[in-house]
Parts: sequence; structure tokens; C-alpha cells
Amino acid sequence: MKKWVLGLIGLLAAVGLIGYGVAAHNQQVARETASHRRAVQAASARQATSKRRAAAKAQAAKAQAAKQAAAKQQAAKQQAAAVTAQPLPQGTNHAATAAAYAHPAQAVHDTMFSRFDPAQPKVVYLTFDDGPNLTMTPKILAVLQAAKVPATFFVIGQQIGASTAPMLRAEYDAGHAIGLHSFTHTYGFEINGDAAATARELNQTLAAVRSVLGPGFATQAWRYPGGHMSWHHLQAPDAVIAQAGMSWIDWNAASGDALGASSPTTVPAMLAYHEQSIHAYGDHNSTVVLMHDAPDKTTTLAALPQIIAYYQQHGYQFGVIE
Ligand SMILES: [Zn+2]
Repeated sequence: MKKWVLGLIGLLAAVGLIGYGVAAHNQQVARETASHRRAVQAASARQATSKRRAAAKAQAAKAQAAKQAAAKQQAAKQQAAAVTAQPLPQGTNHAATAAAYAHPAQAVHDTMFSRFDPAQPKVVYLTFDDGPNLTMTPKILAVLQAAKVPATFFVIGQQIGASTAPMLRAEYDAGHAIGLHSFTHTYGFEINGDAAATARELNQTLAAVRSVLGPGFATQAWRYPGGHMSWHHLQAPDAVIAQAGMSWIDWNAASGDALGASSPTTVPAMLAYHEQSIHAYGDHNSTVVLMHDAPDKTTTLAALPQIIAYYQQHGYQFGVIE
């Protein structure tokens, strides 16, 4: 064979080998690509699964929260339904059943600081400011119901709405009384002795309560945010209150739940504070106890049965402020 023929054969063989090699390589690449694709697919499937799991978990948590909220709402409704619905008030701030233990605000105001008369009964007025709300109001109502004692709720107008209306109604139906505690609970009108702002705060709150308890609702009881004792220059606001046929009511006993950082944080500490406060103000025929109906006043809620027991054991009658 000629040399060139051999060369050609060799060349062809080489090309063939290379071709085979390339094909084999391509196959390898294809296999690798496929396995890479499978790996990516598997990874993304895993990711999708964990995403689905996280979503399901979030969904479950959401459902749980919704369930809890529904249960809470249900409990509030049951609380509201636990007492018989009363006919709406006609010129008063309490149901007719409460008339037996309701005392005019002016009389309470006057006897809170006057000399103790042993011939007259001792009456305690439990008062709760800053409600209504869905968290604490039903719990306070439950404690009062269990102890079978009445109280007076000084409500904030802007807290009264569709969701809290059943709480206000429950207070009323259970034989408690409703006083006004301003619409916004801001202190501007007191700091400035602003008569117009006082009238606005009073009328808006009265309108809010009437939207729930009807136009026949009327109350003589007003409590200034922070209490009358905290402010100077209240001559003009006081005149507005008096003109509306109301008396302002402070307190001469307290659970100490509005002292911020220095509020008692345990039940024994709160009971000690409460007893101390009674002695600090001296003996009077009317004892008005300041407490708060707000979601964070859990110590007050926990101490409430024993605060009630104190007055039961010391011969007090329980009254509401008309
Ligand atoms: Zn308040």
C-alpha cells in the first residue's frame, strides 16, 4: 500500500476515534445535564414542599388565632347573655333593679370627705375607669357577678363602638351604673381649664353611651381623667359639669393600679396598698375605690375578690353612683 493510503486510513481512524470520543463526551454531558436537572428539580420540589409546609403552618396559626378570637368573642357574648336584658333606662344611669343601692353623685361627693357618722351606714362604691374593652371588662363583670356586688364604670366615650357596645350593655344589664370619664382621655381641657372642650368631651361621651343604652340614659357622675385632685384651674370645666346636672367624683381609696412604675405588681402588695389608702383618707360614710378596667390591669383583676371581701368583712354596703 502506498504510504498516503496508510496515512489516510490512519487519519480516518483518528477522526473516527475523535468522533466517538466526542459522542461519548456528549452523552456524558447529556447524562450529567439530566442528572443536574433532576437534582435541581428535586431541590426545588423540596423547597416547594417546605414552602407549602410553612404556608400550612402559618395557615394553622392563623386559624388557631381566629378560633381563639371567636372563643373570646363567644365568651364575651355569653357573659353579656349571663344576665337578663333590662329595659333601657329612663332618666337614669342604671337599670331599675339597681335603684335600691344607687346613690346620687352629689351625695356621694359630699360624704366622701365629710366626718364619719356612725349612725349612718358605711357604703363602698367600687369604680372602674377607662373601659369598656373586650379583654378586661368581661373578666371584671365575671368577678362582680360571682361576688354579687355592684360597681360603677366610668367609661371613655371613644372606646364605645360596635364591638364594645355589648360590654356596656352587659354592665348595665348586670345592675352596675355608668359614669362619664371624658371622650378622649386627653388632659388638654383640664390643663387649660377649657370650658368648651369640657362640654364637647362630656356631650360626645354622653352621645356614645346613648347610642348603646338609648336616649333615656342620663348620669350625674363625672370623673375627670387623672381625677379632679390632679388639676388646678378647673373652675370653668366644673361649671360645665354642674350645668349638665352632674357632679365630679374622685376617690378616697385605691388599688394603686394607676401609679405607673410604682404600682403594686403582686396581689399581696396591692391589698396592702389598698388598705393603706383607706386609712390615709380616714373614715367616711362613703368610700369610693379607684380601679381600672384596662387590658393591662391584671393585678387589679387578681386582687379584686379580696378587695371585695375586705368591704364585706368590714360591714360595708355596696352602692353605685347615680
Ligand atoms: Zn382614666
